[in-house]
Amino acid sequence: ATESEEKDLVIIGGGVAGYVAAIKAGQEGLKVACIEKRGTLGGTCLNVGCIPSKSLLNNSHLYHQILHDSKHRGIEVGDVKLNLAQLMKAKDQSVSGLTKGVEFLLKKNGVEYIKGAGSFADEHTVNVKLNDGGETSVKGKNILIATGSEVTPFPGLEIDEKRVISSTGAIALEKVPEKMLVIGGGIIGLEMASVWSRLGAQVTVIEFLDQIGGPGMDLEVAKSIQKILKKQGINFKTGTKVVSGDKSGEIVKLEVDSAKGGKPETLEGDVVLVAIGRRPYTEGLGLENIGLEKDERGRVIIDSEYRTKIPHIRCVGDVTFGPMLAHKAEEEAVAAIEYIKKGYGHVNYGCIPSVMYTFPEVAWVGQSEQELKKAGVPYKIGTFPFSANSRAKTNLDTEGMVKMIADPETDRLLGVHIIGPNAGEMIAEGTLALEYGASSEDIARTCHAHPTLAEAFKEAAMATYSKAIHF
Ligand code: FAD
Ligand code: NAD
Repeated sequence: ATESEEKDLVIIGGGVAGYVAAIKAGQEGLKVACIEKRGTLGGTCLNVGCIPSKSLLNNSHLYHQILHDSKHRGIEVGDVKLNLAQLMKAKDQSVSGLTKGVEFLLKKNGVEYIKGAGSFADEHTVNVKLNDGGETSVKGKNILIATGSEVTPFPGLEIDEKRVISSTGAIALEKVPEKMLVIGGGIIGLEMASVWSRLGAQVTVIEFLDQIGGPGMDLEVAKSIQKILKKQGINFKTGTKVVSGDKSGEIVKLEVDSAKGGKPETLEGDVVLVAIGRRPYTEGLGLENIGLEKDERGRVIIDSEYRTKIPHIRCVGDVTFGPMLAHKAEEEAVAAIEYIKKGYGHVNYGCIPSVMYTFPEVAWVGQSEQELKKAGVPYKIGTFPFSANSRAKTNLDTEGMVKMIADPETDRLLGVHIIGPNAGEMIAEGTLALEYGASSEDIARTCHAHPTLAEAFKEAAMATYSKAIHF
């Protein structure tokens, strides 16, 4: 084994959290090594998560739109065919372009990229099992754990990525399944259900809770998007728990039960997607060698400055607390480096947007109505439907709305919830407003270009503060 010089910072994991920390640390003049075992940088997000799923969502939407939403626009198309292999190739090209781009950025910022699996030898030393064979070790004055997360398996139903798949299998199927069952109506379940339903599969989503989209989504919004997705052909079984699965036969069978008790039922599909959440990943990391603890959900325990109980070892991203989102991981990565370099950093956890990239998209930031109700916080609401927005009308895409929630006394913004074709872009305006402590009047009095979908955002603010003009 060879041993390299001591670094200012050793990062374990080259996902979004790890590579962003590496670039930021390089920019700050630190000597950095980043250890990644996957063979490519970018982690779950770039390789098997955000990026490939958005490629498939974008192109499957285009296909679906050409088939079902073009004639009335005056566009007559002939023979429309799906070339699934090419669809997958386009996705792979986006992924490889971006992961190579990240590798270039590490180089540009003087980061040593070590391809292998890292494991703590002691509080300052990480042993690396190199991908190309052999071993090395790196010493760091500081160490950052950024090992991410993995799929939560469904007990008794082994994932083979062909018939019983996780999101990783769902972005790489070689043929469109006839019948697809999705366990879990969270974001992964709904995004993947959208892709395969658009490409021709008969999809049923089974969700334990009474609402889809996960508990963070505003209830009114969740109900509304469920209706829209149902109209697009996705079947839903909410308030229904998958109890067990059986893949011994040709068809995969799921035993489901009403969450509130009731008659059990057997559902059948040729492919079953397991999308019941993700869990922190620390396998082989050797946390036990240095006595680092995890909580009951497997998350590495840290303080508000991302320090573990060994202060020079910090941790960010999916492997620790907070929402499992790429942009949250990035914010933390930058803040952790600032703590190391300057002694202070900042992430506003009340102001992290969420986006579900279905069509239309769903996006939100801040608090939902049900959260405010539960906390006994008074609030006022203003909504504006896209059906009253001129640009949405000209685009013939009028489904959805902007819902704004503000403090009834001070008018300060508390939350924004959007269903709309570009909700994921529009939420940036809500996030900025929330971060700056804007009131709904501040937004209502800000000039928005016409004709844009963003005018719906302004009008929702007008409705919150006084009255909308166009509705
Ligand atoms: P990861 O991206 O998981 O990276 C951790 C890396 O560490 C991995 O590459 C792993 O190989 C490496 N590693 C682990 N252990 C070791 C070790 N011992 N030695 C060396 N390397 C190691 N989030 C969004 O914000 N928007 C989206 O649209 C979105 N879409 C998603 C779609 C899917 C299908 C999935 C699964 C996730 C999606 N996410 C999305 C979530 C997002 O991918 C994660 O929040 C994000 O990747 C977390 O970054 P991370 O760096 O903490 O972890
Ligand atoms: P999730 O936790 O969001 O949703 C899982 C859903 O499965 C929940 O609604 C839960 O009630 C349900 N469920 C659990 N067990 C069940 C059972 N036995 N029967 C029926 N339903 C059951 O998890 P996910 O959708 O797998 O996503 C994982 C993570 O990845 C999330 O943290 C998410 O934020 C992130 N992600 C984000 C994006 C995005 O930002 N666009 C996209 C994909 C993934």
